[in-house]
Amino acid sequence: MDVTSASVAAYLVAALLFVLALAGLSRHESAKLGNYFGILGMATALVVATVVAFDTDVDGLGAVLLVVAVVVGAGIGLQLARTVEMTGMPELIALLHSFVGLAAVLVGWNGYLHIEAHPDSVDTQVLEGAGLLGIHSAEVFIGIFIGGVTFTGSIVANLKLSAKMKSAPLMLPGKNLINLGTLALFAALTVWFVIDPQLWLLIVVTALALVLGWHLVASIGGGDMPVVVSMLNSYSGWAAAASGFLLDNNLLIIVGALVGSSGAYLSFIMCQAMNRSFISVIAGGFGIEAPAGEAADYGEHREITAEETAELLASASSVIITPGYGMAVAQAQYPVADLTARLRARGVNVRFGIHPVAGRLPGHMNVLLAEAKVPYDIVLEMDEINDDFGDTDVVLVIGANDTVNPAALDEPNSPIAGMPVLEVWHARDVVVFKRSMAAGYAGVQNPLFFRDNSSMLFGDAKDRVDDIVRALG
Ligand code: NDP
Repeated sequence: MDVTSASVAAYLVAALLFVLALAGLSRHESAKLGNYFGILGMATALVVATVVAFDTDVDGLGAVLLVVAVVVGAGIGLQLARTVEMTGMPELIALLHSFVGLAAVLVGWNGYLHIEAHPDSVDTQVLEGAGLLGIHSAEVFIGIFIGGVTFTGSIVANLKLSAKMKSAPLMLPGKNLINLGTLALFAALTVWFVIDPQLWLLIVVTALALVLGWHLVASIGGGDMPVVVSMLNSYSGWAAAASGFLLDNNLLIIVGALVGSSGAYLSFIMCQAMNRSFISVIAGGFGIEAPAGEAADYGEHREITAEETAELLASASSVIITPGYGMAVAQAQYPVADLTARLRARGVNVRFGIHPVAGRLPGHMNVLLAEAKVPYDIVLEMDEINDDFGDTDVVLVIGANDTVNPAALDEPNSPIAGMPVLEVWHARDVVVFKRSMAAGYAGVQNPLFFRDNSSMLFGDAKDRVDDIVRALG
């Protein structure tokens, strides 16, 4: 068997391993195995690509450069994976998506420079003879467009998630028109390029895609960022598939389609969970108007000490803990697990209520609680527990803010209006753990903090939970 047919077979095996990886990752118990399948698939793909490169590269220089790039990239990747905090994961993922986008742009340009830029070359003549030149041009153009949008969109998502850019949505006048106009222009230019592949058209579409990517994601508010990250994941998949067509690489096409469709489906599920219109979010906040009005005056808040909270808990028979991003920052999951075990030993019914976007990535809280060995059966999804708050004595809101904000239900002009939230305020007493009165990720004030049955327990969540555990004895 020659190297080319062997590589096609090996790529199919790698594609199968990626499908198994996705299947494994969809369940808690098989996630580790899924990860191993993924690693094996990627290792196979890299080895095959390298062998093919040495086989087809006459002087071997390109193949050597490929190996150097893989080694350097793997080194950086390993270091990043070792050092990244769970809370920094979404911004790292966004950054990695930007690389896929950039690669797709470069592959597209490379395709043009090899084929369309040399109308007299043998390769171009062969494509033209087979009537495939127009298809190649369309692949180049579309690949560069999707890649460009993914590249700058992911950079903006990274900047927003790492708080280097304001998380509030950019509200340019006529922003929907700008997006729709850009898409229409792209469609027209694609037709033009297929008919007459001119260099300037490629320059224009690259610039257009970069600006559109930036604008699309800048127009989306911080609260919708989880959906955006998963949507960019999907775009990066389609960008990779487009590169696969250009490079005639089946594996890239299959994996790109897997990433593209699973990312789109995840975005869709998240939109449903957050009561957002899928179309509105992928179209850069299409139809969302700027929130009107001044910050409302909700009155005074009350404070509570750790000792008083311990007394409250000691006399409670039912407690619900709703963790959020602050629990991750403080790494408070271990004392929280300890507190839970102590209260349960006293006969208190303790459960956890998990909002689908609590923290900074889907499943963030579940991972932290599992790490601290909190039993799975008392960790409930928002929909499973939302009706139980009315019968609950004490709710501990540990570092959560947007996900317990009643403004989402009560204030139609709020940027988070319509998002389902944990309705903690129905409980008898609510204790909110945070360090200050600062707003949450979406940047909106939380009227929960000013309700009569709410008290603020200020300080680092880990220190305060430790204090409560000590006070309980
Ligand atoms: P928020 O980000 O709304 O609020 C977290 C709160 O934790 C802050 O108000 C902060 O207040 C407090 N906090 C921070 N550090 C500490 C600490 N060391 N000790 C105690 N408190 C602390 O959290 P939620 O989890 O409620 O909401 C998640 C938000 O993130 C939503 O807007 C969601 O849309 C968004 N998001 C979610 C993603 C996901 O997939 N889960 C991905 C990206 C964004 P203070 O500073 O006063 O301490």
